[in-house]
Amino acid sequence: MPAHPHPTEIRFNRDERRLKMTFSDDVDHAYRTEYLRGYCPCAHCQGHGSMPHAWNPLRHEREIIVDDITQVGAYALCIAWADGHNTGIYSFELLRRIIEEPEAIWEGYPPEDIWVDGPPEGVDSD
Ligand SMILES: [Zn+2]
Repeated sequence: MPAHPHPTEIRFNRDERRLKMTFSDDVDHAYRTEYLRGYCPCAHCQGHGSMPHAWNPLRHEREIIVDDITQVGAYALCIAWADGHNTGIYSFELLRRIIEEPEAIWEGYPPEDIWVDGPPEGVDSD
């Protein structure tokens, strides 16, 4: 059975706030870190069994800065954010579905208000 496409290259661009991934089938995509974090799939952010994932507005720039990424088994990535939140497991399947049908994965996409109190200093509001 063929495995799901998996990321072969991952680059975090802090200025653009994008996590760029290239997959094993040559698909590439630049994910906005605001969305990856605001729709964090972990049980703490989502409760249990919630799909599509609920949006959680952001407060600090640290929440959208990628500190570390580790692979989980053969199926997922764990993203550690600069504010210490590191329980979000992003399966390869989820990451691919986000490219193809974000509205099906992310409730209320794109979110109207990304920041609880407006964008932090140094973060554009685009
Ligand atoms: Zn979370």
